[in-house]
Amino acid sequence: MAAQETVEHKYVYDFAEGNKDLKDLLGGKGANLAEMTNLGLPVPPGFIITTEACKAYLATGEEPAGLAGQIATHLEALEREMGRRLGDPDDPLLVSVRSGAKFSMPGMMETVLNVGLNDRSVVGLSAQAGGNDRFAWDSYRRLIQMFGKTVCEVPGEEFEHALDEAKRAKGTTNDLDLDADDLRGLVDAYKKIFVKHTGREFPQEPREQLDLAIRAVFESWNAERAVVYRRQERIPADLGTAVNVVSMVFGNLGPDSGTGVAFTRDPGSGAQGIYGDYLTNAQGEDVVAGIRNTVPLQELEQLDKKSYDELLAFMARLEGHYKDLCDIEFTIERGKLWMLQTRVGKRTAAAAFVIAGQLVDEGVIDLDEALHRVNGAQLAQLMFPRFRLDHEFQPVAKGIGASPGAASGKVVFTSARAVELAAEGEAVILVRRETNPDDLNGMIAAQGILTSRGGKTSHAAVVARGMGKTCVSGADEIDVNVPAKRFTVAGQTVNEGDIVSIDGTTGKVYLGEVPVMPSEVVQYFEGSLDPEHVDNPLVRAVHRIMSHADAKRRLAVRTNADTGADAARARRFGAQGIGLCRTEHMFLGDRRELVERLILARTDDERESALAALLPLQRDDFKEIFREMDGLPVTVRLIDPPLHEFLPPLEQLAVNVAVAQERGEDVAKEEALLAAVRRMHEENPMLGLRGVRLGLVIPGLFAMQVRAIAEAAVAVTRAGAVAKPEIMVPLVGAVQELETVRAEAEKIIAEVVGDSGVEVLIGTMIEVPRAALTAGQIAEAAQFFSFGTNDLTQMAWGFSRDDVEGAFFWRYLELGIFGISPFESIDRDGVGRLVRIAAEEGRAARPELKLGVCGEHGGDPDSVHFFHEVGLDYVSCSPFRVPVARLEAGRAAVETDGSDSR
Ligand code: PEP
Ligand code: MG
Repeated sequence: MAAQETVEHKYVYDFAEGNKDLKDLLGGKGANLAEMTNLGLPVPPGFIITTEACKAYLATGEEPAGLAGQIATHLEALEREMGRRLGDPDDPLLVSVRSGAKFSMPGMMETVLNVGLNDRSVVGLSAQAGGNDRFAWDSYRRLIQMFGKTVCEVPGEEFEHALDEAKRAKGTTNDLDLDADDLRGLVDAYKKIFVKHTGREFPQEPREQLDLAIRAVFESWNAERAVVYRRQERIPADLGTAVNVVSMVFGNLGPDSGTGVAFTRDPGSGAQGIYGDYLTNAQGEDVVAGIRNTVPLQELEQLDKKSYDELLAFMARLEGHYKDLCDIEFTIERGKLWMLQTRVGKRTAAAAFVIAGQLVDEGVIDLDEALHRVNGAQLAQLMFPRFRLDHEFQPVAKGIGASPGAASGKVVFTSARAVELAAEGEAVILVRRETNPDDLNGMIAAQGILTSRGGKTSHAAVVARGMGKTCVSGADEIDVNVPAKRFTVAGQTVNEGDIVSIDGTTGKVYLGEVPVMPSEVVQYFEGSLDPEHVDNPLVRAVHRIMSHADAKRRLAVRTNADTGADAARARRFGAQGIGLCRTEHMFLGDRRELVERLILARTDDERESALAALLPLQRDDFKEIFREMDGLPVTVRLIDPPLHEFLPPLEQLAVNVAVAQERGEDVAKEEALLAAVRRMHEENPMLGLRGVRLGLVIPGLFAMQVRAIAEAAVAVTRAGAVAKPEIMVPLVGAVQELETVRAEAEKIIAEVVGDSGVEVLIGTMIEVPRAALTAGQIAEAAQFFSFGTNDLTQMAWGFSRDDVEGAFFWRYLELGIFGISPFESIDRDGVGRLVRIAAEEGRAARPELKLGVCGEHGGDPDSVHFFHEVGLDYVSCSPFRVPVARLEAGRAAVETDGSDSR
């Protein structure tokens, strides 16, 4: 390989060669290290191996041609700059080898520190550290441990046991009590463990250590936990990771050294100020792992004022440069501050809104940019309920509110148990001393996470915030005993299966199930908190950003509601009409009997009398809804599901009849019902007698509904309100079906509305693939289309919507056939294509055709962007999703239509 060192492809970049916009190539960490270097901040020198090198390695299992030579060249330059050689016995350069993908994946991939240490350079390191043998041997044992575990898959517990053993021998529980001799002994023990598991000696050659560590970082891209995390976070699987090779600086050289994490604003609330954690005499991993409890960053001012002031100046500089909240990792080595990492920091949903609002106030960004920086998933989180606390509930412990929300559930102590109980439909709280990346599946399954150790930047906190999962970390009054499956707190014992409640905003922990109340943001949407007068930065920021979204969006947002109460609530949430009023629930409850009469009718008279009894009830239903939606359009869908859904189940009925016959009772009525249920039984009811087919088969059914709608609209209008009914026909696949229904409906409407001024539109759902493909013809008979993407997804994929998610979607997700259920987020390529075709052909045939969507996708953030792109007029979703859809429609508008500054 060395012979072909002419470089066809550049795989290695010096920090000075990169910048923050090269995240695809250099990963987030590398790109930002480069940016800080170029800003003149004190970054330890180093270089970055690109994501392309990683991808090439993962594709072939071999390092791409030229990479080894480029690493050698950059390493030599680094050695020159540092005035030290990698692993030099007398004065060694040591490096860290760190992963760094385009998107941050906290703790998911590998890092190896202290590369370059061996039996000889450990002595040189001690000399460098002013004869600090303890430090040198501690660094060496850390290298063998990290290298063994991450590069050579030596089980981590073996090293932990050896460390515990050394402490036991010394009669201590504190690592810091081990002296240089103890650590030298530990290095020997570690080396034996290494040989036992790998069949070879711990590599002494520094360049070999470096190369193996680089490969291990490449390979960690495909580690199981990283794969799970990416799927959860919807990070593409093919990005690869960059590798950062950085000269080591040490925070564990004594009391004038330390390491910390800092945020330019509070990532929990968004408040301005200095936030962070600091740990004296420690390496960075100690803070992130949450192994030792940290002190607030402010205390650094007393410990080392010069470094503190310098750090604050750098933080202000970085925030001004990135125009956003930055988080920073730093190390102080004997009074000298080094910046080890920065990035635009993760934050809670509340902080995202508050910070975006503040930055607008400060004139740093405009409102379009503020809108871009928040999203519907965050808004949805802010609408989570909170605990309703009265004196009955006293917290038993208080940790750090690491990720907001209110969660109650059964206590579990292992990831596996969390997954098991969640699969049985139980809400669980995963309780751990501290979490590590192997707990990921349990964290996904749990309602909330509670740890007894670790700060705001511990693994549990960072991952939970990313997932939007409630988390309390560092609740150190809790004593967790995982093997015994219990924890103790305030003199009480809590066993697996007991219920606890955790508040991720305040950090408080309660025993038992605490009742919940609406969040402030919901109170604002409900109209009970006035944003202009309330002293609540979150409510003011949400109000401001929502108002901008409303001003910008092209999509109207309607709601799916079939009761007056739902309609009223959705209207308060900003719904601009009803996009789907499902009428089937109106046939349940005490009306079931009338429906039975309708279905069982043997003569026209019997059927007509049942319909006549239903008519006034339906009319009242619609009147209530039209009144609530005064002035706004209301799409009422004619009855859709198979009628047998209104009848008793076949098996149960058959048993009842048989038993009654046995007893010699008169069962004539039940027999008639049984015969009807048998007659109507279908193998595939979702593909059977439902939707428009019902209306065509049962005379008078649709006519009754149309009459009830028209009469209700006239009555409400005469009473002074404005009713705007739109009658929607479900499950249409051919224009002839619609034409037939429409002809009958128009006659009834003309007769009922007379000169009342009420206008009734007639349109159809597009939810059968054939309807999408013949939309040009169907538009001739429809004044509007509403995409029923639930059925459209079901029929386009051939997935029974009631069965598949539980049956096999887990496997499809695992195989990456899709990254998210197509029932949750629109499948753009398939179902989306049908939507596009129908929208285009429908509009070509009838330019004024109104287009909307009323399937579940109408409230899904990604899908809203798609519907915006396709040019629909509105989305319709459940009342609680209305604000989310408003926000995302605004975001879609500023993102795709370009932004202007306001
Ligand atoms: C749909 O199919 O997308 C739809 C809105 O109708 P339903 O869910 O009632 O079948
Ligand atoms: Mg449907």
